[in-house]
Amino acid sequence: QFPFGRRLPCDIYWHGVSFHDNNIFSGQVNKFPGMMETVRKITLSRAMRRMQDLFPLEYSFYPRSWILPEELSLFVAEVRMIKDSNPSWKPTFIVKPDGGCQGDGIYLIKDPSDIRLTGSSQSRPAVVQEYICKPLLMDKLKFDIRLYVLLKSLEPLEIYIAKDGLSRFCTEPYQEPTLKNLHQVFMHLTNYSLNIHSENFIHSDSVNTGSKRTFSSILCRLSSRGADVKKLWSDIISLVIKTIIALTPELKVYYQSDIPAGKPGPTCFQILGFDILLLKNLKPVLLEVNANPSMRIEHEQELSPGVFENVPSPVDEEVKVAVIRDTLRLVDPQKKKRKDTQCLLYPGTADGKFQLKPVKIQVKSGMKDKQHKHHSLKLSLKLKFYLKLGSCQSSEQAPGPSQELPDAAPSPEAALPSLCLKQVFPKYAKQFNYLRLVDRVAALFIRFLGVKGTTKLGPTGFRTFIRNCKLSNSNFSMAAVDILYIDITRRWNSMGIDHKESGMCLQAFVEAFFCLAQKKYKARPLYEQVALLVNQCECRLADLQGKRLLWGCG
Ligand code: ADP
Repeated sequence: QFPFGRRLPCDIYWHGVSFHDNNIFSGQVNKFPGMMETVRKITLSRAMRRMQDLFPLEYSFYPRSWILPEELSLFVAEVRMIKDSNPSWKPTFIVKPDGGCQGDGIYLIKDPSDIRLTGSSQSRPAVVQEYICKPLLMDKLKFDIRLYVLLKSLEPLEIYIAKDGLSRFCTEPYQEPTLKNLHQVFMHLTNYSLNIHSENFIHSDSVNTGSKRTFSSILCRLSSRGADVKKLWSDIISLVIKTIIALTPELKVYYQSDIPAGKPGPTCFQILGFDILLLKNLKPVLLEVNANPSMRIEHEQELSPGVFENVPSPVDEEVKVAVIRDTLRLVDPQKKKRKDTQCLLYPGTADGKFQLKPVKIQVKSGMKDKQHKHHSLKLSLKLKFYLKLGSCQSSEQAPGPSQELPDAAPSPEAALPSLCLKQVFPKYAKQFNYLRLVDRVAALFIRFLGVKGTTKLGPTGFRTFIRNCKLSNSNFSMAAVDILYIDITRRWNSMGIDHKESGMCLQAFVEAFFCLAQKKYKARPLYEQVALLVNQCECRLADLQGKRLLWGCG
């Protein structure tokens, strides 16, 4: 830990909030550039909508959503249309301010006209979403699931899911929403930060009772009722993989901007918190993705009026310590070094020596408040413990020059519990790779960005893309290309959050690309249109590359 700033390069940089240090040239950082922006409510909704347009069935796990204020009239019109065609539909909607957390500013409505567009906090951009009225209940209470997911690498994509998570319970028995109970947050919102203030909140020392339990305890109960928990897990894994596939195009644009390929820089990994609700039929629904999930393993207890003390929370400890420990095991730089060293220790070249240095980790909170400092300190103690265990055992068990192959030596990991993080990607890549279409569109976008370090495409870059991929013709002139660029870019920039750079952002490029695909391959499903155009662009660019190489040789 370097409380007063870094003086030496570190193996792992553990930042509290986001990727914010551009002076790191090696090692690994526990945050991806742009992750906070990518999982904000509005950006996530846009990314999911894009995937729902391409793959409606595959992405039906995300509730129908609209972005406010820009889609207010669309929201009103769509709701009216569905109600007209299905008069028995009596929906409820949940309005969530963009960038909000812990239930902040959230409210339920029965009718689009109830949206509060005036007033200080309500006027900010928000997502309005279909409210899930029939969630699965346990002990008559609504609950959600917090699952921890490790995005270990973006390129190649590597995803791990923790085998256990948390279930956070409401503190008032659930009733389907009516005008009378819409305001009862302890009945409808599962946020721990809200329900902790209810007099019904139960802190329990056991992981399977109380207002916060392990997800495995819920699975046990479901299984004892005869539910197919294997199917539930496989649906959850597929939800997580599909969500990350929806996020990777944006993340890749941020990544190349902050950590340009070919220049020294760190690699990144990140622990994400997935909030999931289960329907009565056990179908999982994604509520949101948290870029900075709380890793606190204790809670506050009021000893006497106004006197609080932090006491350990066994449920949090059980789940979160394992997640952090296993994340470190998976990204452990010594593991790689050990592997490399082992390669040198074959008999015959047996004078190599195991050299294990302690791993240097920088823990940086990035937040001023006391709670975060405290959290950061607890975390660093846990890290030190893990590293100590790892390095002492490694040196004790390091094989001498004449010993057997290191293969036979027990690894320092042998003393640790089995991994709680389960790899799901690339393990299940075959099943999901066809969904990575926008990723390929993003690769084209990045290719034409030109100057490294930007996230927006200029008009010349867009023209070059059209020309190199041979997309213009007598029906689609270069003047029409310019108009398409200006129209779409202007619209996206008028609603975008990032006004720092001018030009076409990735979402605008994707929209333009879909437009071109629809124009070229009429009367096919959108997915096919886009896939055909991506193939064409990739082939033309490969041809061009081949010709350039030939000319180079010539
Ligand atoms: P926040 O970041 O403020 O916690 P969430 O999107 O997680 O916002 O929503 C807060 C809570 O509201 C969730 O934990 C869940 O209990 C409830 N909730 C959110 N979206 C829905 C929905 N579409 N249907 C039913 N309940 C929801």
